[in-house]
Amino acid sequence: MHYFDHNATAPMLPIARQAWLEATEAFIGNPASPHRVGARAGVALDSAREKLARFLGCDPADIVWTSGATESNNQVLHHCARTLPAETEIWVSSIEHPSVLESARHYCPGRLRLIPADRRCVVDLEWLERELRKSRPGLIGVMAANNETGVLQPWREILALCRAHEIPYFCDAAQWIGKLPAAGLGACDFVTGCAHKFGGPAGVGFLKSSAGGRLQSLLRGGQQEEGRRAGTENVAAVVSMAAALDFRENAMCGESMNELEERRSRFERALLDRVPGTEIVGRSSARLWNTVSAVMPHTERRQRGVVKLDKLGFAVSTGSACASGREAPSHVLAAMGYSADETARALRFSSGWETTDEEWSELLDALVQVFRPAECGPDQLRPRQKRCPSVRK
Ligand code: PLP
Repeated sequence: MHYFDHNATAPMLPIARQAWLEATEAFIGNPASPHRVGARAGVALDSAREKLARFLGCDPADIVWTSGATESNNQVLHHCARTLPAETEIWVSSIEHPSVLESARHYCPGRLRLIPADRRCVVDLEWLERELRKSRPGLIGVMAANNETGVLQPWREILALCRAHEIPYFCDAAQWIGKLPAAGLGACDFVTGCAHKFGGPAGVGFLKSSAGGRLQSLLRGGQQEEGRRAGTENVAAVVSMAAALDFRENAMCGESMNELEERRSRFERALLDRVPGTEIVGRSSARLWNTVSAVMPHTERRQRGVVKLDKLGFAVSTGSACASGREAPSHVLAAMGYSADETARALRFSSGWETTDEEWSELLDALVQVFRPAECGPDQLRPRQKRCPSVRK
């Protein structure tokens, strides 16, 4: 199976698996326990905290371990709802992950404003500057990189705007971290992320918060993480997450990233050529090197496209959040101005660091088979091994 769904979950790195195994043996105690076995586990948590803080560029004391980005995002909105004056607005972008949008609606009803995004999937900075001249929200939330389209958001500019207006800035960096250098993100007031997007285990993440001891715990019943997050920390998962990030950050040199980006661009050019009528979403924007979001031609609805590609040996995604197996229409593409019909035809292909040129071109062959069956003969799915004879490399 060729895996093109790294934005959903990336496979665990061998080095992260090894770190997890070793940590489960080395740190058997509860970090909250008063004995030396517990203290050793606490030291492991703190050394992972230092490592993550070094990459983000922040104080290790500002990092709280959580179960993942969904929990971290909930905690940010919950904290703001509890600490800001009742009338103060919260502004988050219309293209945020549902764990931000739905939390904002839930915790801050009646005082949420959505920051619009344009057809390129970039938040509207002019809108933000204009509106900030008229009013002052209690929080601005804009993600670092969009999970559906891979489009990078101007978080550095937004951070500068927030500084100038003395507004806390919240950046969901779940898709950025581990794909692009985390340096500088630590300057944001709130930053969230999770390990399973970059080769660490699922079910562990972090929240960087500059609220110190005032950060409101979402969970009740424990004083872990300096009272900022109740519940025993998953020490082995945290250690493994730090090992995965260390590995990824050290692999991020300009040359390798350019090559990865070029690999994706070659695929996109070939896709547009071989499957006419395809549109690459956010093509003119700076994007993650691994993500292609494409509105496919009329011939297939996307769920069926995903199933057919699965049969051919390719795991791809519709890109938008899936709840209990039922697909939700993409609010991201809708916010960009795509019609319901277009969003229904969108597919997301998200590669990993190790994805080869060969895999990208085999995916292209499969897409030609699914979306241009006439080019390959009768409309029949063939197993991946039997290559479409008319497909050029
Ligand atoms: N934020 C973004 C941008 C994401 O892409 C995701 C997962 O897809 C999340 C948050 C939720 O992360 P988790 O699966 O760790 O809860």
